[in-house]
Amino acid sequence: MNVTEIFGKNVFNDVVMRERLPKDTYKALKRTMDLGERLTEDVADVVANAMKDWAIEKGATHYTHWFQPMTGKTAEKHDSFIEPTGDGSVIMEFSGKQLIQGEPDASSFPNGGLRATFEARGYTAWDATSPAFLKDDTLCIPTAFCSYSGEALDKKTPLLRSMEAIDKQALRILRLFGDKETKKVMTTLGPEQEYFLIDKRLYQQRKDLIFTGRTLFGAMPPKGQELDDHYFGSIKERISAFMKEIDVELWKLGITSKTKHNEVAPAQHEMAPIFTTANIATDHNQLVMDTITKVAQHHELACLLHEKPFAGVNGSGKHNNWSISTPTANLLSPGKTPHSNAQFLTFLVAIIAAVDEYAPLLRLSAANAGNEHRLGANEAPPAIISIFLGEQLTDIIEQIKAGALTSSKEAETMKLGVTTLPDFPKDVTDRNRTSPFAFTGNRFEFRMVGSNQSISGPSIVLNTILAEVLSRIADRLEGVENFELELSHILEELVKDHYDVIFNGDGYSEDWVDEAERRGLPNIKTTPEAISVFNRPEYVEMFAKHSVFSQQEVTARQEIMFEEYSKNINIEALTMVEIAKREILPAVMEYMGALSNTILSIKSAVPSADVSVQTALVERMSNLVKEANDKVDELDTMVNRVHHEIEDFEKQAYAYKFEVFPAMEALRKPCDELETIVSEEFWPFPTYSDLLFRV
Ligand code: ADP
Ligand code: MG
Repeated sequence: MNVTEIFGKNVFNDVVMRERLPKDTYKALKRTMDLGERLTEDVADVVANAMKDWAIEKGATHYTHWFQPMTGKTAEKHDSFIEPTGDGSVIMEFSGKQLIQGEPDASSFPNGGLRATFEARGYTAWDATSPAFLKDDTLCIPTAFCSYSGEALDKKTPLLRSMEAIDKQALRILRLFGDKETKKVMTTLGPEQEYFLIDKRLYQQRKDLIFTGRTLFGAMPPKGQELDDHYFGSIKERISAFMKEIDVELWKLGITSKTKHNEVAPAQHEMAPIFTTANIATDHNQLVMDTITKVAQHHELACLLHEKPFAGVNGSGKHNNWSISTPTANLLSPGKTPHSNAQFLTFLVAIIAAVDEYAPLLRLSAANAGNEHRLGANEAPPAIISIFLGEQLTDIIEQIKAGALTSSKEAETMKLGVTTLPDFPKDVTDRNRTSPFAFTGNRFEFRMVGSNQSISGPSIVLNTILAEVLSRIADRLEGVENFELELSHILEELVKDHYDVIFNGDGYSEDWVDEAERRGLPNIKTTPEAISVFNRPEYVEMFAKHSVFSQQEVTARQEIMFEEYSKNINIEALTMVEIAKREILPAVMEYMGALSNTILSIKSAVPSADVSVQTALVERMSNLVKEANDKVDELDTMVNRVHHEIEDFEKQAYAYKFEVFPAMEALRKPCDELETIVSEEFWPFPTYSDLLFRV
């Protein structure tokens, strides 16, 4: 296999553009891509035509505006290139206008009431900074999706806005440090994607997996992950064949699939690409999730992207490696000269302050129904936001806190820069896996994010909160007489105010929960509580200040999140009722019947035989059946009431969490116990042992 030849084969990338576009058009398009200049219609026409020719040569017949609505998935409506000529034949056409803008119906996507106020129509607009690509004979144009009056209806628009915000504010800081050259500051992302692979035929026998993505019933198997024999273990042939196909498919799409390995839990795996610009990384991650799901089918496998497919077994996250950089330098790389040290420390301290001040927003960005099972459940990062810096950096931060920068008499000299920074050997910086937000040498790794989530949300929050703190720092520094002194004061103040968010210890321990409480760090345990923080006035104001979300957009998004959460739990509850009533209870009764018949025949054949064991078992099952049946009724009634009677989105989400959810757990308990005593032959669906170990 010639990887260099395959790589990017299905992407209308820079090489293709340079080859196929007239020089002027290429230059104009580059200016749009790099500097955000408006694209004129003539240029768009030429680009569209070149794209179409390229796509058709590769067998394409259709094009689509590919976008990321609030469902967290991607959406595409395919149109063929055909245009009738009037004589009964067709030609293949694709205009600049069709490239730049599309008009899907916004009312069919979650919009949080935004479209009701305006028009049903929504608009998709080409994101020229993310390259077009071919998928299934269709030319896919990455686009942003918004309402008639410009409100974002997708996950991409606010991401692009937040990237602009950080660009603007970080450039102000760079200018203050004397950098006159740099024209752009970008956010970079490298998401590590975890997932489970199970046998497709077994998957198809589980309604819970099909409808909800996770198992709603299931007793623990005798073997779990306690032997640590899966992590980095040798990869089974069938899985390896799957992984090879994934690599090829992703490489064709220009996705730098780099790392693959087995994860901690049985049947759990991970893939990681090489990082790239945030919006492209977000597009790519959507394509990764899409591709692994599809390719799994080729191997008779089912891919589970859910954050917690199996109770009691490690869940799946998506570590978001995040940094900011200029076209030539990573701004989170500790510098070598005193000058670059000071700049690095300024960004670092700004991040510490931003993460501490806006911790609830970061928690919100990782909140959904699935991830609720992970966060704080002693296996994933806790729901408490803290920052891991490692010993060396913490030491420097402690010096700043102790006034090392400002106590000196000759404060004019750049004390800041004198602080020498250690060279961080990349591999040894962080092996603390229990921190939700860890510095790993030249980037931060945000580990709370769920495996099934779009990575745009966490980046939107990170970018915006950092832009906010940077803007405050720049406000104070611009025009100040003694730059070094003022900067020293600012950093000392910020470190003093936000030192408590730094924690290098074991984030999974009970002690940390108490300690964090003493420090006053928020511990937002549930998803509805996390969603509730979204519209706090100070957050709304901050998002508006940086033009990332308007007040209306915040309201709409909050409503969508509550609604999505409620809908998920509602489906889970209904699925449980159905499985319990129509699969588990009938199966148990059948087994009880068979056992009772056995007792009768033993008794009639050998009247003196001791059948106390069999009788006790039937009795035990009877009790559990009664309990399960009561719990089914309770859950059924409860979910109907919450679904139909509570109108307020927020109240409804809380009711799903604090009323419906406990009723689901109460039903699961007797059912899981039944699983451990009912004969395998009678049990209606594959168990955890089957799902996790028969791949
Ligand atoms: P680990 O499992 O040790 O955390 P991986 O190699 O699995 O490491 O993943 C690390 C990820 O971080 C990769 O996607 C890598 O490209 C990404 N990364 C490296 N440098 C940066 C950076 N400057 N910005 C964003 N992501 C980065
Ligand atoms: Mg990692």
